[in-house]
Amino acid sequence: MHRVHNFSAGPAALPDEVLEIARKELMDYHGQGTSIMEQSHRGEAYTKVDNEAKERLNRILDLDDQFHIMFLQGGASSQFMQVPFNFLKKDETADYINTGVWSKKAIKEAKLFGDVNESYNGEEEGFSRVPQNSELKLNDQSRYVHFTSNNTIYGTQFSKEPNTNGVPLVCDASSDFISRPLESNKYGLIYAGAQKNLGPSGVTVVLVRKDFLKTISKNEIPTILDYRTHAERIFNTPPTFAVYLVNLVLKWVEEKGGISHFQKLNTKKAGLLYSEIDKNAFYNGTANKDSRSIMNVTFRLPDESLEDRFIKEAAENDLLALKGHRSAGGIRASIYNACKLESVEALVSFMNQFRNKYG
Ligand SMILES: *Cc1c(COP(=O)(O)O)cnc(C)c1O
Repeated sequence: MHRVHNFSAGPAALPDEVLEIARKELMDYHGQGTSIMEQSHRGEAYTKVDNEAKERLNRILDLDDQFHIMFLQGGASSQFMQVPFNFLKKDETADYINTGVWSKKAIKEAKLFGDVNESYNGEEEGFSRVPQNSELKLNDQSRYVHFTSNNTIYGTQFSKEPNTNGVPLVCDASSDFISRPLESNKYGLIYAGAQKNLGPSGVTVVLVRKDFLKTISKNEIPTILDYRTHAERIFNTPPTFAVYLVNLVLKWVEEKGGISHFQKLNTKKAGLLYSEIDKNAFYNGTANKDSRSIMNVTFRLPDESLEDRFIKEAAENDLLALKGHRSAGGIRASIYNACKLESVEALVSFMNQFRNKYG
């Protein structure tokens, strides 16, 4: 069997241990003679999986039972629409912090429902950084403040929650969910497509603060899109196998030492890459230093043909999926929780050799 060093931005690497368990349990889940995906989503086995995953999230993120946890479908992209569909009325305003492609997509959808106040726009600077609190032009009547905690494409990340003077935050946390602790009391809603840091594609985790949910006052929301439909119970068939894998990933996170373990590990992994990048001018980090992501490390080489060569020679060394997003170019190493320290060390050593050869 052969496993490579996988730096995919998403769907991304899953922990070996989790895949091993899934393989072992695939034909015969806990002696039941079927896999978990061949059973009713109302049955005892799946109900237990669903409850366990929610309890683990509550513990890992220290949510203190203040949030409804939902496993929905449609990806983070559906949440761009579902959030304003529930929370934004025609005569209301929401703040949106624009730090890149994903924020822009969220803004486009929100405008279908109400007023959007773009409290920051990083486009002129090529989205190479996230804003300081002092740069945010927040509306004082705002319903919520939406931000993208980690900008997967540009390799930028908020080092802490933006300051909103008490207005609830709504966060697209798709690419850094459970990579580090969060101040849950500042959030009204957090959503994340699972396929980066949490599990396979097909499930989107949505956490809605209980008191924030109560502020929904709209009536004309289709049942399936109304968060209140999903808050207390499983409404329709969830993506059961994906949730099962998410639960295994969360179990793995807890066994490894929880979120503080991963924060330390992720900081260390990112630090190794950035210090290699900063050694001299051969590699050029694309994110401003104070906005650098610990999840997606983006950099350029002196020219595009060297970048192509870098990607090709890296692949020959089992270092895969390093091509930057098509809208940003260059190189991107995505180093989510499941990316091992050894993989990052192997990449750093390759980068060093590559520079010696071509620099
Ligand atoms: C990948 C990503 C998305 C898109 O997620 P889908 O599940 O494909 O809709 C949205 N936001 C961020 C920050 C992402 O990294």
